[in-house]
Amino acid sequence: MNAALIHKKLLDWYKANKRDLPWRQSLDPYRIWISEIMLQQTRVEAVLPFYERFLKNFPTTKALAQASEDKVLSLWSGLGYYSRARNIHKAAKSIQADFNGKFPQHPEQLRSLSGIGEYTANAIASIAFQKNVPAIDGNLERVLSRLIDLRENPKKEGRQEIQAIADKIVEHGHAGDINQAIMDLSSLVCLPKNPRCQLCPLQTECKSFKIGSTDLVPLRAKAAPAQELKSQAFLVLHKNSRGQASLLLARRKKKDWLQDLWDIPWQVAPLPQDWQAAPNWKRFGTHKLTRAITKYKVEFEVFFYEAPERKLPPKALQSQAGSEWQWRAITDLDQINLPRPSRRALESALAKLK
Ligand code: SF4
Repeated sequence: MNAALIHKKLLDWYKANKRDLPWRQSLDPYRIWISEIMLQQTRVEAVLPFYERFLKNFPTTKALAQASEDKVLSLWSGLGYYSRARNIHKAAKSIQADFNGKFPQHPEQLRSLSGIGEYTANAIASIAFQKNVPAIDGNLERVLSRLIDLRENPKKEGRQEIQAIADKIVEHGHAGDINQAIMDLSSLVCLPKNPRCQLCPLQTECKSFKIGSTDLVPLRAKAAPAQELKSQAFLVLHKNSRGQASLLLARRKKKDWLQDLWDIPWQVAPLPQDWQAAPNWKRFGTHKLTRAITKYKVEFEVFFYEAPERKLPPKALQSQAGSEWQWRAITDLDQINLPRPSRRALESALAKLK
């Protein structure tokens, strides 16, 4: 494998084809970091509106560190994987406290921050601070595995080989551009299925292309089957005499899934019997949906109720499904940003509540 030639081809291709993305408009490590975290398990198109909104509210590490966790979580709502938001909030505080507000430059320092692993540390260090380190993720593994037609799992037995090739390529400099070139090449050309080899600058260097084995490489470990989980929730609405609706919200308990988030009250099914008989609530519908969330397949069942007044449930019931409770006008919900399944259920309930 000719690392110098691959390096040159990648840089030339990147110059001509790089995607115009908002986090590429500056070398600000803060902006690059936020984009890298948002892009974990999330497509670029899905990230864009959240990224702009987040940066508008928190333009600097300092602004993020000083924000309340509620505000950070509400601006993250819709992106999922809320531990990412908690970690960046914690890391922003560490940057202020432990690095005097100066963004750390070295991969080892970056890895000491919450939520930053080797890939993210190297991506930030190479792009923002021109450190010559490769950012190895599943996308880079796919491209490099195909280049050498690696018939081992690149995350396990083949890991060292991938690391050695990546090191050899970035040895020639411009690691930030090389890492981003591979990010773009893997998203636009070297796709997981049906790679577009006719458009690839590395075609003549690619062993899997020559052999015709691109659909066999990279080797993957078999994914464990998703665990099924059933969740039930109460969506309780109250309409006042002027027709304005309010929603009953509970803050999820510590150590619960999506801890500390304001949401409609929910629990892992089956709900205790006493919830079913909540006083004075009139049932007017249900909503079911299924979502794949991390390793779970979650079936949500939401019961719609209309409450005659904005009263909180009895204390014994409150303690089962939340740490704090409140009624909130529907027009205020922008500040809460409910998780997506709850928003869908709310839309359906409001359409039914005449
Ligand atoms: Fe990927 Fe095809 Fe390019 Fe090989 S030639 S790196 S398989 S797109």
